[in-house]
Amino acid sequence: MDYPSELCSANPKHPKMKKITIAKGDGIGPEIMDATLKIILTAGAELEIEEVEVGEKIYLAGNTSGIARESWDIIRRNKIFLKAPITTPQGGGYKSLNVTTRKFLELYANVRPCVSFHPFVQTLHPGMDVVIIRENEEDLYAGIEHQQTDEVVQCLKLISRPGCEKIVRYAFEFARQYRRKKVTCFTKDNIMKQTDGLFHKVFDDIAKEYPEIENEHWIVDIGAAKLADMPELFDVMVMPNLYGDVLSDVAAQIAGSVGLAGSANIGESCAMFEAIHGSAPRRAGQNMANPSGLLQAAIMMLIHIGQNSVAEKVQNGWLKTMEDGIHTYDIYREGTSRRKVGTHEFAMAVIANLGSFPASLQPVSYAGGKPLILPRYTRKEPARKELEGVDLFIHWRGVDPDELAGRIKKIETGQVKLTMITNRGIKVWPDGFEETFCTDHWRCRFKPAEGQIFSHHDIIGLLTRADEESVDTVKTENLYSFDGIPAYSLGQGQ
Ligand code: NAD
Repeated sequence: MDYPSELCSANPKHPKMKKITIAKGDGIGPEIMDATLKIILTAGAELEIEEVEVGEKIYLAGNTSGIARESWDIIRRNKIFLKAPITTPQGGGYKSLNVTTRKFLELYANVRPCVSFHPFVQTLHPGMDVVIIRENEEDLYAGIEHQQTDEVVQCLKLISRPGCEKIVRYAFEFARQYRRKKVTCFTKDNIMKQTDGLFHKVFDDIAKEYPEIENEHWIVDIGAAKLADMPELFDVMVMPNLYGDVLSDVAAQIAGSVGLAGSANIGESCAMFEAIHGSAPRRAGQNMANPSGLLQAAIMMLIHIGQNSVAEKVQNGWLKTMEDGIHTYDIYREGTSRRKVGTHEFAMAVIANLGSFPASLQPVSYAGGKPLILPRYTRKEPARKELEGVDLFIHWRGVDPDELAGRIKKIETGQVKLTMITNRGIKVWPDGFEETFCTDHWRCRFKPAEGQIFSHHDIIGLLTRADEESVDTVKTENLYSFDGIPAYSLGQGQ
C-alpha cells in the first residue's frame, strides 16, 4: 500500500506542515509504515516526509552502523524520526542502529505506554494502564566491554547524575502533565549501591519537588514479579536502561501483545518514534503484520509536534476498530474477534472509523498534550574528592589466594599495603573460605599504611613493581571518597 504522497507534500510552505524523516526498515517494516502513514495522513496530519534508508541492506553493503552519513544529516536536520523496525544481521560486528541513534541524538527518555484493551484484546490484566519511562543512553548499554583474562570478560555499567536527573524529572513531569497519580522507581540498589544507589537517591530527591504525586521504590526483582502479576498496582514507572528494556516488553506482552505498543525516544532537540517489536522477517511481504505498534508511535509523534487533534482522531478511530473486532492474526481470537484481516484491510478499517469514537473503551482526549520541556541540567558544586587507595586487577592462573597474597606483598612498600584480595567480588584473602570458587581474575586492594597519604605516585610505583615481579595487571580502579564518604564497593564478606 502506498501512502497518499499528495496529502503530505501538497504544500510544504504551509505553516503547520512539519517536516519529518521516515525509514521503512526491513521485514514487515515497509508494510506497517505504509499503513501507518496512510492512516495519519488521511486523518489530516500535516507532514512533509523525507525518507532515508537504514537497516539490513546498508549493513550488508559494508556499513557496520546500518546508516549512511547523508541519512544522519537528514535526521538531524528534520529532528523528528518515525522509524519502522530493522533487521540487524547476525554476527560480523554489526552495531544496533537503535542504540546508536538513541545515544548520538541524546534521546534520553524512552516512553512506552502499555495499556490493555479488554475485552477486545485478550489479557489477564483488564485494568492495566502503565507507562514505562526508561533511561535510554546509559547503564550497561554504554557498551564498554573488555576481556581481561582467559576466563573473565567485563561490561561497564555507567550511571551518571545528569542521566538520572533527566529521566527521573521526565517521569514526574510526564505524570504531572497526564494527571497520573504515582511514579514507581525500580532499581537493584541493595546490590549495586553506587550505580543503582545514585538512581534511587536522585529519584528520592526529585520526588520531593512533586508532592501531589505519590512515589515509591521497589527492588527490581520483586517489583518485576508484581508487575507481571498485578500490573494494576503501577502507574508511571521509571528505571535504568536494562531493567526498562526487559520490563517494557513484558508489560506490553501482558497488556495484550507486543504488536500493539509503540514507543517514543525523546531528547532535548530530536525525537524518534517506533514500534517496540522487531522486523518479524517470517511475516514480511504477506500482508499479515499488525501496524498498530507503529501507529501508536506515530500518534505519540503527532502529539509531540503539536498535531494533537489529528492524534486524537486516529487513536479514537483505532480504538473503535479494536472494539469492532477487526483484528490482525496476532490478536485475533475466536469469540472476541469478528474479522481476521491483513495489514491493508486493517488500515482501511481504521480510516473508515476516523471521526468515530469507541463505545465501551474510554475515548481519548489529547487537548492538553504537549512536548515536555525540562530545565537544562545544571552541574553541582564539586565535592571534596580524596584518593584513598587503588584496586589492581590481576590475571593469575593459580588457585590459592594465600600464595597470590605472598607474591603480591612483594610490591608493597612501607607506605602502601595490600589489604584485601577478592575474586568475583568475594573476599578470599585474608580469612577467605576454602569453598569459594576462584577464577583467574583477582582484585588486589592497596591502601596507605597507618598515618600515610596515598597519591597517584603510589599507583605508578605499584604498577612499576608489579611489572618487575611479572605480575600481570589487567586494570586499575582508583578508590575515592567524596565529601569524606568512601565511594567504592567493599569486598563481599567483609
Ligand atoms: P520480532 O518482534 O520481530 O518478532 C517476535 C514475534 O512477534 C514473531 O513471532 C513475530 O511474527 C511477531 N510479531 C512482531 N511484530 C508483529 C506485528 N507487528 N504483527 C504481527 N506479529 C508480529 O522479534 P525477533 O523475531 O526477535 O526479531 C526479528 C528481527 O527484528 C531481528 O533482526 C532483530 O534484531 C530485529 N529487531 C528490531 C527492532 C527495531 O528495529 N526496533 C527491535 C527488536 C528486534
